[in-house]
Amino acid sequence: MLFGRQSDAIGRGWFGKASGRRRWRLSVKLLIASSIATVIGFSAICTSVMFDMRRGEEELARQTLENLAAGIDADIARNIELYDLSLRNVASNLVIPEIHKVSKEIRHLILFDHAATAKHFGAIQVFDADGKLSIDAASLDPAPEDRSDEEYFQIHRANSNVGLYMSRPMLRRSAYSIVFSRRINDSDGGFLGVVVGSIRFSYFHELFGRLTLDPGDTITVLRQDRTIIMRKPFGLEIIGKNLAERPRWNPANLKDGGSFAGVGPVDPTPRLFVRAGTTSLFFVVVGKPLASILKLWHREALRIGAIMLVLTLFVVGTTLFLAREIGRRAKAEEKLEELATTDSLTGLKNRRKFDIEIDAEWRRAARNKTPVAVLMIDADHFKAYNDTYGHQAGDQVLVGIAICISDAVRRAGDCPARYGGEEFAVLLPGLSAIEAFAVAEAIRLKVEQWSEYPGVTTVSAGVASMTPAGSFGWPDLIEAADKALYAAKANGRNQSVVAAIPQLALVA
Ligand code: GH3
Ligand code: MG
Ligand code: MG
Repeated sequence: MLFGRQSDAIGRGWFGKASGRRRWRLSVKLLIASSIATVIGFSAICTSVMFDMRRGEEELARQTLENLAAGIDADIARNIELYDLSLRNVASNLVIPEIHKVSKEIRHLILFDHAATAKHFGAIQVFDADGKLSIDAASLDPAPEDRSDEEYFQIHRANSNVGLYMSRPMLRRSAYSIVFSRRINDSDGGFLGVVVGSIRFSYFHELFGRLTLDPGDTITVLRQDRTIIMRKPFGLEIIGKNLAERPRWNPANLKDGGSFAGVGPVDPTPRLFVRAGTTSLFFVVVGKPLASILKLWHREALRIGAIMLVLTLFVVGTTLFLAREIGRRAKAEEKLEELATTDSLTGLKNRRKFDIEIDAEWRRAARNKTPVAVLMIDADHFKAYNDTYGHQAGDQVLVGIAICISDAVRRAGDCPARYGGEEFAVLLPGLSAIEAFAVAEAIRLKVEQWSEYPGVTTVSAGVASMTPAGSFGWPDLIEAADKALYAAKANGRNQSVVAAIPQLALVA
């Protein structure tokens, strides 16, 4: 009973070394680390690809908008240039003295060419130095008009070098127009009046109508001072508004060829705005909602994100499954190794394991020049004990002897083993013969005390200790311990005898 219980204790005590478990833990850690690295790596690549795609979409949209803005700018600039040619023609011809000598009909033919009467152009008019209408392309006898209060008239009167002046949008002859004007100088540069023409809003409506735009796209034509000349979608309330105070639209920020992403002057939709302009009069800003620019990208990002999520879950799931399998396998291997190296009756290591251990310790001792001690322990008169009390009782005694050995041998590195039958071996690395002898005696006395039948189940022990040297191997050490055991038997049993070791290998 006592032996049985203690045998379990031995089993628990001597098995379960951590080395095997550590091995599998390390490999699980490696698996988890590589899975995490894989997931992070893939995520990083996908994120970088998605951001590249986003940049690509934005760049493509920017180029498209820039081309659109440049096209609109070119069309408006060409028409203004054509119209300006007519204005210049009037301004320069008016100073020829002969012009005032010919009839009104001839004067009209000289001053106004066909360009000035094109579809969206208003009739060219000439106002004298007092702002009074003097010549009107639309009529040989125009009704009197006074423009001396108009901004453009006053600007030209005050400055001789304004050139072509572009007005704010205004209602002119019941149509919204932009007025273009030039100063008329006499030969000395004196102010003779202004020549005035206009381009109607219908021109812009027709121009914008020809373009294929997405809903949400905007086109804004601005004068250089940031006054809105025209906008699509059209809204009278926004025409004429000045954006110079808006940080994103002021001259320092929205430069030629520049762009910005943000909220525009009318609605809160964030857009990408791109500016194009080739003249000093106006420029064009085309806007596209960021949502529509990034619509495809958003869809793609969602798709890639979903695939990444599924892949990540798959990798995590597989990793957890593999980790569990590795753990199971490691435990099974540990168990198998334990079974293969353990004596089932006593729970001590078996002879196979003892041989492996002594081999390793012998090599280490050879490197460190330290001694290795071995005890060979054998039950006395065991055959007789078996014959008297039966084999079962004999087994219990063997378990009891194992417990006594385990109790006396507790250092890490010590290896008590069942060497065969009723014979035990104990490996004691680093111990001298005297120290090993003390351990042997401790075992022997424990067995003696524990036995219910003193003198029957005692043990004899052979003790040997050697520092590896020369041609000696660990079998020599075991042989020496064995010889000492026989000497103990021959001496009367229940005693420990130290082997006589050749001088060369004796522990100092
Ligand atoms: P000595 O004092 O000289 O060692 O005498 P002994 O009887 O112990 O020696 P011997 O070699 O003649 O007998 C060994 C006996 O040990 C024979 C066998 O019955 C017994 N034995 C060996 N293995 C076991 C075992 O596993 N269980 C039991 N119960 N007995 C065993
Ligand atoms: Mg015996
Ligand atoms: Mg024997």
